[in-house]
Amino acid sequence: MRNITLSNGNIVEVECLSCALTSGLIEPDGGVVIETDHFHAHQDVAYPIRGLIILASKRHINCFDELSEAEKIDYINILTKIRKAQREVLGIEHVYYFYNEDTTHHFHTWMVPRYEWMYSFGRSVESVRPVLLHARNEMNDEENVNEVLEAIKLLTNELNG
Ligand SMILES: [Zn+2]
Repeated sequence: MRNITLSNGNIVEVECLSCALTSGLIEPDGGVVIETDHFHAHQDVAYPIRGLIILASKRHINCFDELSEAEKIDYINILTKIRKAQREVLGIEHVYYFYNEDTTHHFHTWMVPRYEWMYSFGRSVESVRPVLLHARNEMNDEENVNEVLEAIKLLTNELNG
């Protein structure tokens, strides 16, 4: 079990953060962007980057080869759908995708939009950690967070409309 401090200051004890989110025990800031039979998408606003999405499986699994046939199809379809919405409503040209199997919570893919300002942290993959830390520590101002929340709303409307 681990304690998760929510953005509203409440502390909840959960075994797996992804389970807590996908089951609805924890409501992500900005809400659920889209949900399918097997997957759940939200923005982790701790990293306030416009259009960043976390796509988590509903089932508690860790490795790619644990996906069922139905989950595999659902995964690629929802990933593609979200990617298309990022392009069409937010004008996002490129996205970096991250997924690691040795995570403390279960199967989730990061979709990190690539913006011009990120190149000051490096050319490619090596810049991602510094970019995320910069966003978490330096971009939490109200104006940026509101832009992030607005983007969540646009994506949610596009994907559920
Ligand atoms: Zn889990």
